[in-house]
Order: sequence, then C-alpha cells, then structure tokens
Amino acid sequence: MITRFAPSPTGPLHLGHAYSAMLGHDRAKAEGGTFLLRIDDLDSTRSRPEWETLLKQDLAWLGLDWPEPCRKQSDCISEYEAALDELWGLGVLYPCTCTRRDIVEAQSAPQEGVPTHGPDGLIYPGTCRQAMWQDERWFDGHYPRPKDVTLRLNMAEACDVIRWDHRITAKGGLHFIAFEETGAGPNGEAGEILITPEDLITRIGDVALSRKAFGAAYHLAVVVDDAAQNVSHVIRGQDLFEATKIHVFLQRLLGLPTPVYHHHKLIRDETGKRLAKRDDARANAKYRDEGATPEDIRRMVGLT
Ligand code: GLU
Repeated sequence: MITRFAPSPTGPLHLGHAYSAMLGHDRAKAEGGTFLLRIDDLDSTRSRPEWETLLKQDLAWLGLDWPEPCRKQSDCISEYEAALDELWGLGVLYPCTCTRRDIVEAQSAPQEGVPTHGPDGLIYPGTCRQAMWQDERWFDGHYPRPKDVTLRLNMAEACDVIRWDHRITAKGGLHFIAFEETGAGPNGEAGEILITPEDLITRIGDVALSRKAFGAAYHLAVVVDDAAQNVSHVIRGQDLFEATKIHVFLQRLLGLPTPVYHHHKLIRDETGKRLAKRDDARANAKYRDEGATPEDIRRMVGLT
C-alpha cells in the first residue's frame, strides 16, 4: 500500500491537514506500506519555501515520517507537458481565450434545471469549443498543441473516446467508469461510485487542464503524480470527492491505473465552518507553541 499527503505550501498546516496526513500515515504503516509526502507547489504565485519548511516540521513533530527527497510538482513540469501532448493527440483538448468575466456573462441566462456550478466553480459554457470548429487548422491534419494558452478538456468528445474504447474492451458491463470509495462523499456516497457521461458533461463540464501563464492545472498534475508514485490509496478530504470524477476520467483517458479513494470528514470550527489556510488560529504550529502534544492533536481531531 502506498498513501500520500499532498499539501500546497501556501500557508500553515491546520488541524484538518494534520488529520488527513495522520490518517494516510497510520493506514500505510498499519499495512506495512509507505506514506509519501508530496509538495503541491504548482501555484508558483502562492507557494513559498518557508511554508514547505514549516509543514515538514509540523509533520515530523506529529510523529510522521516519509522518504526524502519528496516529489515536488515544480520539478515535474515536463511530465505534465507530456500528458497534455497525449490528450491533445487524442483530440480532446481545445484552446480557450475566455476570461472569467466572459464566462460569468455567458452564464447570466442559465437554462432551467442545468447546473451552473461544478467542482471547479462555474461550469464552462463552451464558447471556445464552438469557435474551435471555425479554425481550419483542426482539419489540416497537423495542428501542434498551442503553448501559453488555456486548454480545456472537451468533455463530450472525451466521453466518446472512452465509449468507443469501451465498446471494444467491455464484456457487456453496464457502467461507464467507476472507482472504489472506502470513506464517504459529502452525501454519504460509498462503495463503487459510478461516473456517467451525464455527470461529466452536465455537472462538471469542460475543465481547464492547463492555464495560460500558469501551465498544467491541479486536476492534470494530481493524476500524473499519483500514477508516477504508484499511489494505491488516495486519502484526502471530502471537498475533493466531486473532483475525483475528473481524476478517474483522466486516468482512463491516459491509460493510468485508478487508486482506491478514501474521502474523509472535514475538520470544522465550532461554528461548523471548515478550516481554511487563513485560519491561523487553528494552525498546528500555534497549538504546538502553546504546549499541546501530538497526542492532544490526535484527540482534538478524533483519532484516538
Ligand atoms: N494539494 C491539494 C490541497 O492542498 C490536495 C491534493 C490532493 O490531495 O489530491 O488541497
């Protein structure tokens, strides 16, 4: 068993992070497996080496250990680029020039019953997907992947690719794609979670997999990272349950294995609000400085 904790070094680790890391660590150790720490520092505008140093100190203080050097996303850009090339080659990406404002405006008259928000916020209305057919480069047989532009996943097209593949490989199975959930989603979803084309096309839509000026997006990077590190069990917060559908779908498109997922409860403050990075008041380091022990932290998050 290989588990991982993949924090972004953009602020102090709070009790919710400690809970997630300890769950992943305890589970791997109980099974004689390996617990990995991965630094999700793709967002170079917000990631800081100081936060990385502090988060490692926090985790070591909690009694966790992991093999060093640990993987850092900023060192793996060429792997994400290769995955983007592969998806581009499948014909399931298209360039998008919409600003956030364009998307908000296009969403201003939503159709009744059609969801407007997905795991990435506003569901992309498809403006540039339609414009794509006006670009004759699509038809001349050689259209290299454009760089420095936002690339979106054409969800309907990508579902067709999988459907076609499925027709060849499936032995009469009814479901499209699925993953195993050993924890629970926000609505108690557990066991075999089926992902339908409707979920993907209507409730998630054309997510961005690469952003102009920032490069690979989280959904693409996390899939490449988990596969590169042979992660067998992804243990993380329930807030990422819906996004897991994107990840499992990308694994399928890229021919990568799907780990078992365990989404855990979120640690909340006394008003019921989930903890956020800016919640310095609940930072691990603060409790530590005030004299708490790692056992106290375990007790506070309900682990003992
Ligand atoms: N880096 C992500 C975060 O801090 C977690 C990614 C993951 O566990 O898949 O929210």
